[in-house]
Amino acid sequence: MRALTPITLALVVSLGCADSSGDTDEAGDEIGVTDTEEGSSEDTTSSDSSDTVTDTDTSDTGTESTTGMESLCPADIEAAFPEAWIHGADCAFEPDIQVHWYDSDTVILRQSLCTNFEGPFMFMLFGEDEVLLEDTGAGGIAIAATVDAVIEEWLEAKGRASIERVVVNSHAHGDHVQGNGQFVGQPNTAVVGTSVSEVSSFFGIQNWRDDIASYDLGGRVIDVLPIPGHQNAHIALFDASRGWLLTGDTLYPGRLYIADFGTYVTSIQRMVDFVDGKEVCAVLGTHVEMTTTPGVDFEFGSTHHPNEHGLWLGLEHLVELRDAVVAMNGTPAYEVHDDFIIYPL
Ligand SMILES: [Zn+2]
Repeated sequence: MRALTPITLALVVSLGCADSSGDTDEAGDEIGVTDTEEGSSEDTTSSDSSDTVTDTDTSDTGTESTTGMESLCPADIEAAFPEAWIHGADCAFEPDIQVHWYDSDTVILRQSLCTNFEGPFMFMLFGEDEVLLEDTGAGGIAIAATVDAVIEEWLEAKGRASIERVVVNSHAHGDHVQGNGQFVGQPNTAVVGTSVSEVSSFFGIQNWRDDIASYDLGGRVIDVLPIPGHQNAHIALFDASRGWLLTGDTLYPGRLYIADFGTYVTSIQRMVDFVDGKEVCAVLGTHVEMTTTPGVDFEFGSTHHPNEHGLWLGLEHLVELRDAVVAMNGTPAYEVHDDFIIYPL
């Protein structure tokens, strides 16, 4: 197996230990943001009874890497994400969807656990020509209306009239695709199908397990890696502009359900190989099922996640997962780690 460069690992470690002090609500120059994330995590779910809430725990400030080159990553990567996401604390007040502007061209959406226990995350990546939406939620939410509102805000900030939209799914499981129908037939919108053949033909992938496609949103190139194992049509997205690896249900702080173990191991290794030598600021999946207590997850189906683990994982977690599944030597095993649980089906 190929090892990661010491420089890359050193960078990730140094960022993981970065000073987290200081007020991160400094994004007054962000577009049309409303600060509703002050105070305790409970406040985040009770301060707004509208359908969506927008927060601004973000910083565009880069940091010096250990190589002396400018880093893509915020100086305090963990502070670039909300201290707590909506987590089913009070369903009378919690919005159906939380909108988090990571930066002025990058948005994370979290579906309320009150609407579906899966509480999936969705991502919007804006380029000059197109905005990519990854995943549409588990159903029961007006995802298209929220996406439209985010796009309107972005267009206004940029002084633009319109932008093309592409809707793609991390994989075909129901809790990630339920809102696709809200986008079908809408203007300026392409909705990528959810089968292997449909994803392959859209991105021009010839060999599903081996190829890596690139998709240009306009000054923002997204790499598309097939990573079957959790589900056959699963893809990872790598956004080199932000150092983001979007891993869907293949790696997140929770129960990593593995349908095809051998294929999964190959896919994890492919991701490790792919990011070798690249800067990775964040490994972001589509659920959180771990608590802040190492190795302890929420009960399956729980609609309230007090003390929820953050969404953000680092490259070291991908390496930890790779090492663990490779060490199983072809025999799938349930294995609890601090930040995720390997869960062969
Ligand atoms: Zn899934």
